[in-house]
Amino acid sequence: MAWTPLTDLELGGKRVLTRVDINVPVEDGRVTDITRIDRIVPTVKHILAAGGTPILLAHFGRPKGKVVPEMSLQPLVPALEDAFGTGVVFVADCRGPSAEAAVGALSSGQVLLCENTRFHAGEEKNDADLAAEMAKLGDIYCNDAFSAAHRAHASTEALARLLPNCAGKLMEAELTALEAALGTPKRPVMAVVGGAKVSTKLDLLGNLVEKVDALVIGGGMANTFLAAQGLDVGKSLAEHDMTDTAKEIAAKAASTGCELLLPRDVVVAREFAANAPHEVVTAEDCPADAMILDAGPDAVAHIKQVIDRSATLIWNGPLGAFELTPFDAATNAAAAYAAEKTAAGDLISVAGGGDTVAALNQAGAAEHFTYISTAGGAFLEWMEGKTLPGVAALG
Ligand code: ADP
Ligand code: MG
Repeated sequence: MAWTPLTDLELGGKRVLTRVDINVPVEDGRVTDITRIDRIVPTVKHILAAGGTPILLAHFGRPKGKVVPEMSLQPLVPALEDAFGTGVVFVADCRGPSAEAAVGALSSGQVLLCENTRFHAGEEKNDADLAAEMAKLGDIYCNDAFSAAHRAHASTEALARLLPNCAGKLMEAELTALEAALGTPKRPVMAVVGGAKVSTKLDLLGNLVEKVDALVIGGGMANTFLAAQGLDVGKSLAEHDMTDTAKEIAAKAASTGCELLLPRDVVVAREFAANAPHEVVTAEDCPADAMILDAGPDAVAHIKQVIDRSATLIWNGPLGAFELTPFDAATNAAAAYAAEKTAAGDLISVAGGGDTVAALNQAGAAEHFTYISTAGGAFLEWMEGKTLPGVAALG
């Protein structure tokens, strides 16, 4: 761990330039989901309690280097004030004289919110001049936006190198959980990778077969692996042009000693619709006019056995078309079992990915997982084994 936690620094009287992810959904000028705001509250409150001044830097939407009034951060002020329990002053730039004056005029206990960093073209170019101007606003740089750490932008990368820096509490929690799951995990470690396509998760699969002891393949991508074994998957979602790639991943798993689990049985239907008439067949017996929409009960029993002998589980991607009942059954059952083992203290469980988080919430399992990452792209790049520029710049 090269980075310093925020909580290790002396913050009294310091202006703490804090990169956050508050890219929340807004409708008619109102925030409709405050999850991302809630997650930065511990960092902001810690800075305030320690006698520091939080100066927030954030992006919002994709204005592509231009001032786009609809992508201003100003409408977030009331929601931020509610969450922080203190006054939030907004300034219409993240650099320059107006921002510097706003910093100077702040009263103790207040928070400053600077306008969308992406209003400047230099942000996405990781521009050194923009970073230097932003650096003038603070004494310490704190990155609390793991979800933006896969991008080398001025506010996530260049700026970190100009000031004493640290990881905010959310960043710290995320890095600690991910390190525990894949960096130096308690073994045996298993991964569940599902979702729609092999092609979007190639690097992830390639990295995991080198690091985990067992890899469960589910969802649409399992169909591609079954097709690669020469099985007929009927009308299932499968990438037939990826069968060689699937074979290569299976061969790599065999050479690294990673046990690869494909579903032994599957749930098939004739239409992609909720409550479509369905049946359970072995993986070899998918009818030519049917599609595989979920893993079957025997496959779930197999996954549970692997969970039983694992100390750590990392999960990305649902095992079936979980948006359609009853094709959420395998995902729900495996998630509930992992949650139960975690609650009993027998498993460290970490999950992430947009649809995965939705599926685990739907299964009622998310709250029992050790850690759920809401970081999206950054989580996936981390699972791919990539160095995240925003993390590498800390320390
Ligand atoms: P995440 O967002 O967690 O990374 P993905 O986007 O890769 O996950 O995959 C989720 C999607 O995969 C869901 O929309 C789900 O319906 C789809 N899916 C899973 N299994 C199947 C299947 N057997 N057939 C068709 N779609 C599937
Ligand atoms: Mg998705």
